[in-house]
Amino acid sequence: MSLFESPFFQDAYSQLESAGNTMKMDPNVLERLKYPKRALQVSVPVRLDDGTVKVFEGYRVQHNMTLGPGKGGIRYHPHVSLSETAALAMLMTFKCALVGLPLGGAKGGIKVDPNDLSRAELQALTRRYTTEISMIIGPDKDIPAPDIGTDGQTMAWLMDTYSQLNGYAIPGVVTGKPIAIGGSLGRAESTGKGVVFCINFAYEKLNKTVGSNTTVAIHGFGKVGMPAAHDLHAQGAKIVAISDVSGAIYNKNGLNIPQCIDWVKNRKFLRDMPGAEHISNEELLELDVDILIPAAIDGVVTKDNAPRVKARLIAEGANGPLTHEAVDIITEKGGLIIPDILCNAGGVIVSYFEWVQGLQMFFWDLETVNKKLHDIMKLAFDKVWKNADVYKVNMKQAAFITSLQRLEGAMRLRGMWP
Ligand code: GLU
Repeated sequence: MSLFESPFFQDAYSQLESAGNTMKMDPNVLERLKYPKRALQVSVPVRLDDGTVKVFEGYRVQHNMTLGPGKGGIRYHPHVSLSETAALAMLMTFKCALVGLPLGGAKGGIKVDPNDLSRAELQALTRRYTTEISMIIGPDKDIPAPDIGTDGQTMAWLMDTYSQLNGYAIPGVVTGKPIAIGGSLGRAESTGKGVVFCINFAYEKLNKTVGSNTTVAIHGFGKVGMPAAHDLHAQGAKIVAISDVSGAIYNKNGLNIPQCIDWVKNRKFLRDMPGAEHISNEELLELDVDILIPAAIDGVVTKDNAPRVKARLIAEGANGPLTHEAVDIITEKGGLIIPDILCNAGGVIVSYFEWVQGLQMFFWDLETVNKKLHDIMKLAFDKVWKNADVYKVNMKQAAFITSLQRLEGAMRLRGMWP
């Protein structure tokens, strides 16, 4: 199976290449970064509730570990493949480097629709997957976290399995854990909170403020979209549309976000929400709004629909929601894009805080977590903004360049062995 199989990997690869060339990066370092350090493919057999055995494909890819242990989520989704996981691992390397964390980039996944499995089957799947990748993960080696289709409970099973295999509790093997077993306050909302911080930083640069005249559409109302909607709503913005896998709802005067949060938290689909105007997810992406937050999955804005996207500011809450071509088309039209590795870095930043708190066995209050999150994101945002000006490139390219500047220095210092 080739790494270049998914358009997502090709996209990440070509963005890296073009940023590397623009900043005149050492070609030897650039060449190294185009490929993952290590990729493990595992088969995960699970005895289903009906007694039959089904085997699932799983992966853990470590893209680069120059700056520290690998870091990145575990995704349970039917699209998971080696190539997609490698692309996501690569983005994690650049995300961690960009925001100054002492961590490398990794990602894992299982090709499965978690909605098809019972809780017992999901637990068996997670425990066996953990066992199969246990030799390459660990608090000093590679630290998984939640991603699409996984949550705090998944991380708790992972932590328990890894701890059982070693004979003692090792909370530092994973982040995004429930608070009761060493999770950090603020981790659950951190990605969405970071997205909203970035939107505010961008508005500040544009001499604007987010308020009751600001209209927002959010594609994906889950771990990222929901807290982002909550914070923007609290700031007074008008969230005119939100979506989940079942479809989107729309209200030109602004949706009642607390009500939508209650609905979705009760495990109900937006398509069944009474009294709402229903539109398709495609229509949501093309709404005439000030801010669009694609916070679901990669590749939702492509060269085909990008010409119809009207939002002035796009905050990439998901990883890779806009293709390389879509970024060019929207930038050409004068749209501003806050790139994924900056915009959604809040999650991994608070994961880092969780890991640090766990290693020190000393836990912080929520105010401290959110203040430190804000300050790290502000610093990274300003660096990217400045590099966009210095190199005369869009924010996406500038984010890669900022990240590569740090990585290049570290990789040259460490050199190549042998
Ligand atoms: N899955 C999240 C991401 O894509 C978080 C990763 C982490 O916390 O390690 O950034």
